[in-house]
Amino acid sequence: MVVVMRPGATQQEIDHVIDRIEQLGLRSHVIVGTERTVIAALGEKRDGAKQALETGEGVEKVVPILAPYKMASTEVKHNRTTVTARQLRVGGNRLGVIAGPCSVESRDQILEIAQIVREAGATGLRGGAFKPRTSPYSFQGLKEKGLELLAEARSVTGLAVVTEVMAPEHVALVTQYADVLQVGARNMQNYPLLEAAGGSALPVLLKRGPAATIDEWLLAAEYILKTGNTQVILCERGIRTFEEHTRFTLPLATVPYLHQTTHLPVVVDPSHGTGKASLVSTMARASVAAGADGLMVEVHPDPEKALSDGFQALTPAAFRQTMIECRSIAEALGRKL
Ligand code: PEP
Ligand code: MN
Repeated sequence: MVVVMRPGATQQEIDHVIDRIEQLGLRSHVIVGTERTVIAALGEKRDGAKQALETGEGVEKVVPILAPYKMASTEVKHNRTTVTARQLRVGGNRLGVIAGPCSVESRDQILEIAQIVREAGATGLRGGAFKPRTSPYSFQGLKEKGLELLAEARSVTGLAVVTEVMAPEHVALVTQYADVLQVGARNMQNYPLLEAAGGSALPVLLKRGPAATIDEWLLAAEYILKTGNTQVILCERGIRTFEEHTRFTLPLATVPYLHQTTHLPVVVDPSHGTGKASLVSTMARASVAAGADGLMVEVHPDPEKALSDGFQALTPAAFRQTMIECRSIAEALGRKL
């Protein structure tokens, strides 16, 4: 970490910071500039050291040099992580597409859409059985029945089932049916849930919280990694801003930024990211162009009749076309989809 002193800080203040650094068991290295002095504090990072130094007289700010997350960081693990669940591979040269309805609604619906998305080239099947709905009066999902239907769709298509788990006490049940546990945006900082999901034997797809910074998101991933579960997929699904024309604002610079800072694979969800079916295909293409390791896309056999998020669901025809276009872009970048 580097302690930046205010311009005009006195020698006494500088000496005091040096003493504090040494009391914390760190070594100090002073750099005297023309405008101000900065002091590097070197050694194993100590909890609370940043706060302790920040309160010193004459200190302007303390800048950490290493990322606050460790296991998620490329500073600790250089080679990229690939997550595999049945046919679904996310990371590496191949892009994984997870497609399906917002919610599992009926046996016919999920079996029909599973076959459609598989034929179009998806390798994962999404579908919520436990649904986090903004209103308690909205459809809450078919729960265990929905999980059974997802498992049946998997047995017909071979697709990997990606479905949300909302509570630590549901992890064991959802694990019986799913291939990947989805932790939803609203639960990104539900730490007991992150630990419980990490403790299952399944990979975890961690959605970004709509108000979470990237550091907070990576620290949430760290909770899962710390359990010993290294199979974590990050999913950018848009953040809340002042903009009202889209449901959320989808920041695609997240993808290359995460590729610089973490070895974990990154997928993009342009469905929740835009909230408008007419924008999904373009943003799916842009995500692939930005280097995403995969996509999560809502597709419904008949969006008008969907019980949740129909306004952002692609029709089967629109999904097929999106896949063709995304495949060309992936190939232009030397990747496969
Ligand atoms: C979902 O994928 O069904 C979902 C609820 O998304 P999010 O958690 O990103 O809102
Ligand atoms: Mn949805």
